[in-house]
Amino acid sequence: MTVPSDTATAVSQKPDASQEPRYTNAQLHEIEHTYSAPNYDPLPAVLSVGKGVWVYDVEGRKHLDMLAGYSALSFGHQHPRIMNALLEQAQKLTVVSRAFENDQLGLFCKELAEFCGWKNGEGQVLPMNTGAEAVESAIKTARKWAYLRKGVPADMAEIICCDGNFHGRTTTVISMSSVPQYRDYFGPLTPGFKRIPFGDPDALAQAITPNTAAFIVEPVQGEGGINVPPDGYMAKCLEICRKNNVLLIADEVQTGFGRTGKTFACDHDGIRPDLLVLGKALGGGVFPVSAVVGSREVFSIFKAGDHGSTFGGNPLGAAVAREVLRVMKDENIAERAAEMGQWLRERLQAIKSDKIKEVRGRGMLNGIEIRKEAGTAYDFVKQLLKEGVLCKDTASQVIRITPPIVITKEECEWGLERIARVLG
Ligand code: PMP
Repeated sequence: MTVPSDTATAVSQKPDASQEPRYTNAQLHEIEHTYSAPNYDPLPAVLSVGKGVWVYDVEGRKHLDMLAGYSALSFGHQHPRIMNALLEQAQKLTVVSRAFENDQLGLFCKELAEFCGWKNGEGQVLPMNTGAEAVESAIKTARKWAYLRKGVPADMAEIICCDGNFHGRTTTVISMSSVPQYRDYFGPLTPGFKRIPFGDPDALAQAITPNTAAFIVEPVQGEGGINVPPDGYMAKCLEICRKNNVLLIADEVQTGFGRTGKTFACDHDGIRPDLLVLGKALGGGVFPVSAVVGSREVFSIFKAGDHGSTFGGNPLGAAVAREVLRVMKDENIAERAAEMGQWLRERLQAIKSDKIKEVRGRGMLNGIEIRKEAGTAYDFVKQLLKEGVLCKDTASQVIRITPPIVITKEECEWGLERIARVLG
């Protein structure tokens, strides 16, 4: 993939570059800060062009993207095949709503179900747009399943979730959160959730009651601080769920599509969850596409009109996601993440620094935990930005290092040199 080498190339790629007045980073920062609601405090890099692993701000300054849109950009910015699928479909048909069928949706669902290991039409797909919507859809599926198939008394269904989880920001989804800031002042919250420690199968076994519909879990917690559970955790959870007639919902919105070095993080344990929640990379970094994948049997609790979304399953997103599935295979994305991730982690672990408490992760989902005495992760993320490395803090002390999976060793070295300089 070619990388724009200078400001002129970067700026000229903007289709509207000739019409729009030229703003500076500072001016655009001020406008965004003034007119966008203050629910974010972005790092001050006003990005305008991205290609592969590189992004450029409006003044043409080059940055290495080591966040990759929280895994949405696992294939890099403007992957040529994904862009092509987007542009081709955009010229044919974009949105029809589910009032009608479209020529991409059925094929997308078939290909995704098969990609997730469901053969012979045993699996089905519930398409949505964002990760949080897919999580909501999985929760609704599990609740209705519990009432119809398990005989849980009306409105008594419970869903077990984990401390430190992140499943999105809607009112129901934040009701699962253990982070006070995500919940405070947004009540009344949705009842019916019970939290247990992450990584502890015994806690799951103890928490289950006859009213438990499902257990929802991230196979590796991303936002919670790149928390990797003990080996075999997901397999043990599935066993406990099966024994108790409880659905296992794996939220792979962040870990899916190769990020942890396998196609899905559940593959490390050789299991297929009852409901697999997908998003982010499914849209190839160009369009919001999310989905819940599960068995025909579980989804049979739905009848027409129970649930839906105007944009869910639109042909534009479906065409993009179909190309993503092909790119996953053709470019050996999961294998590359396993190999590059191991190499990158070892390189990060080799940085000699009294500021680093631990480097941990799986595949290309890695985090550097900063010692409290050295400051917060945010302090270092700001310094890294000055060096041209884009990454983001999480859970106060962790710097997430999650570049596009397609990054080369040479590109990684560029970032490692700067990370070592800031942290060393
Ligand atoms: N689940 C997980 C595991 C996530 O990491 C995220 C986003 N960080 C979400 C759900 C929510 O996705 P979205 O922001 O697209 O709603």
